[in-house]
Amino acid sequence: MKACESVQREGRSIRLDLETLEALQVQRWFEVYRAGILYVKERKKRDRSAVVRKEREQRASGWHSDAEFELLVWLYQNRCAYCWFEADLTEDHVIPLVAGGSNAIENILPACKYCNSKKGGRV
Ligand SMILES: [Zn+2]
Repeated sequence: MKACESVQREGRSIRLDLETLEALQVQRWFEVYRAGILYVKERKKRDRSAVVRKEREQRASGWHSDAEFELLVWLYQNRCAYCWFEADLTEDHVIPLVAGGSNAIENILPACKYCNSKKGGRV
């Protein structure tokens, strides 16, 4: 029994009565419990870094600045690329991000809120 060994190593002979045994068991349980928490924490940290990596990959698949979009809006004369009405324009991904579309300016068109929501997830 491990508990006995550790007790002997300390050079003292302690009679392991029920109370001591229970205390040791509680201690052991607490160690396992703490190790479990550390394990979960470590898992969570790893999961989070995986999420960060995924986000980074998505960002790497294309990027555009606000200025680029403003230039695009200027090129489209402040009009929606789909209905050609002048409106509050939002960034519309020609190939949606969920479908693996890039976030680069080549994949962006200015769209009015109506057209953007009408289009939804469709390509
Ligand atoms: Zn429109």
